[in-house]
Amino acid sequence: MIGKLSRKLMKVADMNSDHGLVFAHYCPGCKAPHFFHLTKPNASNAKWHWNGDIEQPTFEPSMNINNGVCHYYLKWGRIEFLPDCQHELKGQNVVLPNLPDDYDAETIRQDYLDPIPK
Ligand SMILES: [Zn+2]
Repeated sequence: MIGKLSRKLMKVADMNSDHGLVFAHYCPGCKAPHFFHLTKPNASNAKWHWNGDIEQPTFEPSMNINNGVCHYYLKWGRIEFLPDCQHELKGQNVVLPNLPDDYDAETIRQDYLDPIPK
């Protein structure tokens, strides 16, 4: 089943999908969802390890979107934005915000998740 796992974390693709298991969270810097791929690499060949916590998640390694437009660590439910981000939260450490109420796993996946190259 896809959908919200907690107020903070949403499963947008299942283990058996083309993407493998993928989680999304809301990024207050980009005001958009970002995706952690856990079992299969994403379109940029990246994959993450998750600490198993849905309330205060940690993912390793860091997330780097479009070469420093958004670059951060998500650790114990806090986002540590690195200084090379190109948005207003660069260099700041913030609590991972709740997912917006209108976020729906199916819609988020279709609108934002890059397809896996065939
Ligand atoms: Zn971001």
